[in-house]
Amino acid sequence: MRMFLPRYYDILEGNNIAKYVLCKHVPVDFEYNDTLDELWVKHDNAVEEMRVEEKPPRLSLLDLKIEIASRIFQSCIFCERRCQVDRREKIGNCGVRESRVASEFLHIGEEYMLIPSYTVFFSGCPFHCVFCQNWDISQNPKAGMYIQPERLTEMIKHRFESGAKNVNWVGGDPIPNLPYILRVLKLCDVNIPQIWNSNMYCSVETMKLLNGVIDLYLTDFKYGRDECAKRLSLVDNYMKVVRRNHKIAYMQGEMIIRHLVLPNHVECCTKPVLEWIKENTPYAIVNIMPQYRPEFRAHKYDDISTTLEPEEFNEAVEYARKLGLNLVE
Ligand code: SF4
Repeated sequence: MRMFLPRYYDILEGNNIAKYVLCKHVPVDFEYNDTLDELWVKHDNAVEEMRVEEKPPRLSLLDLKIEIASRIFQSCIFCERRCQVDRREKIGNCGVRESRVASEFLHIGEEYMLIPSYTVFFSGCPFHCVFCQNWDISQNPKAGMYIQPERLTEMIKHRFESGAKNVNWVGGDPIPNLPYILRVLKLCDVNIPQIWNSNMYCSVETMKLLNGVIDLYLTDFKYGRDECAKRLSLVDNYMKVVRRNHKIAYMQGEMIIRHLVLPNHVECCTKPVLEWIKENTPYAIVNIMPQYRPEFRAHKYDDISTTLEPEEFNEAVEYARKLGLNLVE
């Protein structure tokens, strides 16, 4: 799998530098009273040039990203729900105001190339999947606690020294927590890859802020039809948004795509997702996951109120093999 994640492995071996560290060495000339439009122009120019200097500049591309994120926080459009609420005073659909960490630990399951992975679970989520296996935190944005960025920075350093290969930002979903993540990274200085572990319902603005910060996208591509996404995760325009963001992420960095096979959704969801991956992101690594359990409200939906049949999982894997996808096996 090294050939599909060359940069990630180079960082682990000390032969390359995590993007967020480089981002702190890209000089940007901006003022804190610039308009948001002016900040975006400066941001996009700096990302395009990516002029990395040896010494950290007075103001860096990461500082600019933090400033833009703090403006967006005041009229939130981090995900495609685009609630436009001022999160200093109100909550939007995800329920997240200030970031709360529900748990953080050294994860040793799932993809072998990522573990041990320092996984930070935020509470709250822009999705409301009726089968969510983390529903106690994803649907309860008050779960967990606020951790000062300085403290989380120390914890990252400690986990890195204990053998963590990466920092894995997840939830719920990391999307509403981007301003907090950027503030933590500003204080952090260990050369450790950053993973964006997300449902990918990000806005284009969020995808732009992630560019130059995230080393590896660990995405969750759930559905092959808008109808299924609407009924089971209560979101609109799933296909358009998630496909767009997978294409952007594929251009920006390295990628592992997860697909949880849902019972009775092999034809409508699994196969179209795998076909799309083959056509659009052929060098992504794909993890087809069998561990579906009917959690949370799944018992109310006939199609997913059961466990996954082994034949369904085997059919999914066989289909992916036939397409020639790069499976985690
Ligand atoms: S992150 Fe939350 S508040 Fe912001 S647009 Fe998405 S759902 Fe709304």
